[in-house]
Amino acid sequence: MSKVSELPKECLWRIEKEENTYAVNAMCQRIQLESDGESEFQPGHGDVLEVTNNGKVICLHAGASSSALIFVTNQCNSNCIMCPDSVKQRTRQNTITIEYLLEYVSLLPTDLTHIDITGGEPTLLKENLPVLIEKALDQAGKAEILMLSNGRSFAVRKYSQLFYPFADRKFKIEIPIHSASGEKHDFIAGCQNSFIQTIAGIHNLLDGGVEIGIRIVVSKLNYTELNSIVDFIHYEFPDIKYINLMGMEVMGNAWKNREMVWEELENLKPYLQGVLVRCFKWGIEPRLYNFPLCLFDQKYWYNYRKSISDYKIRYFEDCEKCREREQCGGFFASTFHHTKYKVRVQ
Ligand code: SF4
Repeated sequence: MSKVSELPKECLWRIEKEENTYAVNAMCQRIQLESDGESEFQPGHGDVLEVTNNGKVICLHAGASSSALIFVTNQCNSNCIMCPDSVKQRTRQNTITIEYLLEYVSLLPTDLTHIDITGGEPTLLKENLPVLIEKALDQAGKAEILMLSNGRSFAVRKYSQLFYPFADRKFKIEIPIHSASGEKHDFIAGCQNSFIQTIAGIHNLLDGGVEIGIRIVVSKLNYTELNSIVDFIHYEFPDIKYINLMGMEVMGNAWKNREMVWEELENLKPYLQGVLVRCFKWGIEPRLYNFPLCLFDQKYWYNYRKSISDYKIRYFEDCEKCREREQCGGFFASTFHHTKYKVRVQ
């Protein structure tokens, strides 16, 4: 018998609750846990845990959730002007190894419905990335896997071909396009030639049948040109089926550059609603993420997605009276403190 905080530190543990509570590792070693009423953390069935050297318990996956996150690296090969991470976060040495990631995935529940693979930039894992994706697809056969990438690494045709085997699996990649102008895109991505590389990368992946969705992070730098971005996507990539229009999280680089990138939500409204119509015209499904529901006229709510992670969501006091609160994704904590938006209680 052991307390959670006393579990061996050299591996990860999954909690299994039957009549008693056990911790199981990837080698199927099983340790019965004794209750630790004093501890702040009470493990739940299916939780995946890491115990640090000083006995701190980190919950990497909450067993009650049907979706999981695979965080590959804090590092990135771009430096987007509105990135919610800071330069310090993105340039810190990466300590996450492929062995650690595979061990984590092997402990995830097999009945997950969704897995996000994210970073930083996941392709910095190079040839190990397809190995990780294969492992995740095998571990949770029913799960849809979504990977976020800036797409630049896929400009190397040989590298993109490593992902072709996932074309007929439940796997897709979402890649951002910041502008129809290469110069503007590169400025927003903080990296020369990133536009050319991202466009080539998307073509390479589409050639192999990999499902791609496009993301547009809407900022002061591009909100008036959303129609031209969508026109560009339509002509350049006729196979693209959906575009996600993303509200910004005002943290990290976005906070540092807020004068340059932040635009009040109310000013975005006509452009966002206008670009929805443009997407309909081209037969592309638009989706709205990270905005308050009441920003939009009701006829566009079909395209609205509640997307902000629970622990980051904030609502204004008036929202308590709103009939749509359950459907509304509210505000990022950072946006909540920054915006002058006046909610329209429904
Ligand atoms: S009033 Fe608040 S809860 Fe209601 S839609 Fe607007 S932001 Fe959401």
